Amino acid sequence: MNLVIHYHICWAFDSPLDWQPFQTKEEATEVARRIKKPAESYTIVERDGGCERCREFNSKAFSAVTE
Ligand SMILES: [Zn+2]
Repeated sequence: MNLVIHYHICWAFDSPLDWQPFQTKEEATEVARRIKKPAESYTIVERDGGCERCREFNSKAFSAVTE
């Protein structure tokens, strides 16, 4: 499914929220800013089809975070 360039929110602290792939950097940034807690920080990372996060994500329950 995610065989093209996509983006992830990479939280400074462990968070289950960072598995979600976004199609654009702008979208990822917007969501990150919305759900971010005051003490948390993040970076937006770019990934392609060889994405380890998506592989991990797909091995978890898939129902939670698909849009
Ligand atoms: Zn990914």
